[in-house]
Amino acid sequence: MSLDVAAIREQFPILKREIDGNPLIYLDNAATTQKPQCVIDALVDYYTQCNSNVHRGAHRLADEATRKFENARDIIKDFINAPKREEVIWTSGTTEGINMIANGLAKLLKPTDEVIVTGMEHHANIVTWQQACKAAGATLHNVPVTDKGELDLDVYVSLLNENTKLVAFPHVSNSLGTVNPIKWMTEQAKKFSAWVLVDGAQGIAHGNVDVQDIGCDFYAFSGHKIYGPMGIGVLWGKEELLADWPVWQTGGEMISTVTLQDATWNVLPYRLEAGTPNVGDAIALGEAIRWFSELDYAEVAAHEKALMARATELAKEFDGLRMIGEAEEKVGAFSFVLDQGHPADIGFLLDRQGIAIRTGDHCAQPLMARFGVPGTARMSFSIYNTIEEVEQFFKALKKVHMMLA
Ligand code: PMP
Repeated sequence: MSLDVAAIREQFPILKREIDGNPLIYLDNAATTQKPQCVIDALVDYYTQCNSNVHRGAHRLADEATRKFENARDIIKDFINAPKREEVIWTSGTTEGINMIANGLAKLLKPTDEVIVTGMEHHANIVTWQQACKAAGATLHNVPVTDKGELDLDVYVSLLNENTKLVAFPHVSNSLGTVNPIKWMTEQAKKFSAWVLVDGAQGIAHGNVDVQDIGCDFYAFSGHKIYGPMGIGVLWGKEELLADWPVWQTGGEMISTVTLQDATWNVLPYRLEAGTPNVGDAIALGEAIRWFSELDYAEVAAHEKALMARATELAKEFDGLRMIGEAEEKVGAFSFVLDQGHPADIGFLLDRQGIAIRTGDHCAQPLMARFGVPGTARMSFSIYNTIEEVEQFFKALKKVHMMLA
């Protein structure tokens, strides 16, 4: 069976939009995915039926909100195969999850410790560790990226040693689409007992994420990249680490007892969730993941592969187009530059034809420098994109190329 893309598209109201009389072709899914009607309904239902603060209430609405909010946590737990629901921490997104771990790490690092990141990080997964290492006087290493856009794994292995405290890498590169061998990379790091954080922002929406199988210590992702709302995300971490991880935000909910002089911390997950949580968005993310989980992941993967294969084929036939990133394992993002015109001009002119892509450095300036480009034009696919849209994209790009010549 193949993915019923037409039926999926029907569930996304925004895909019916027109831009200047052209049907919208939305190819900016690495930036954010669109939302199916059931997710929009879950949000509306929360705010029209049971909006209330969670956990502390003595009334019906608070009970209902708490039940739905904690049920969403269970949905996430099952989706990523986390051993325990207490390990699922609500955040505002990938950025906050990584910051939570990096802030704590800064307090745990010694000057002799080392941290390893890669040359293909989103800024959220590099600046955070730079700051942590600077604060502690520790050393930050980088795994270089090959011409194909893959990690140089020989260098990675050679960087690992007894001083390596933590390794952080992306599941999937947001600029190049490269799928990294995260399970193997984790195994290598574990030979030196290093902690492993996977930036799952781009990995989460493309299939089966099983944190126990990966073997990592932390996995962070954003709800808005997997058909959920913005402003909600998840940090999963092993209980034995999170239970003692230095807290980075203090306030309501995360405490157990408070005196005028001191305070003690609550149990997981609450000790890492200071303040009123984003209840409505958490519930809607639970709905997004319930919806996504009903799809057949093999069909999802086959469809995404077909989109990538057709795009690659058409790009190779396109005179004047340089692909940035030609990894063997690639999903979602497809970056390129043209011999004529700045990526920003390409984006602008495609928009005139109803096509939404992203241009610029994709929050990955070191990676752009590595490829000697100021930025790229990037189309990025989701399950609701069609082969016809990919073909339409290249027709429109031909026009753009002529206009820029
Ligand atoms: N890491 C990667 C690989 C990303 O693609 C993104 C979002 N573009 C982030 C981190 C940050 O995600 P957010 O802005 O949702 O926190």
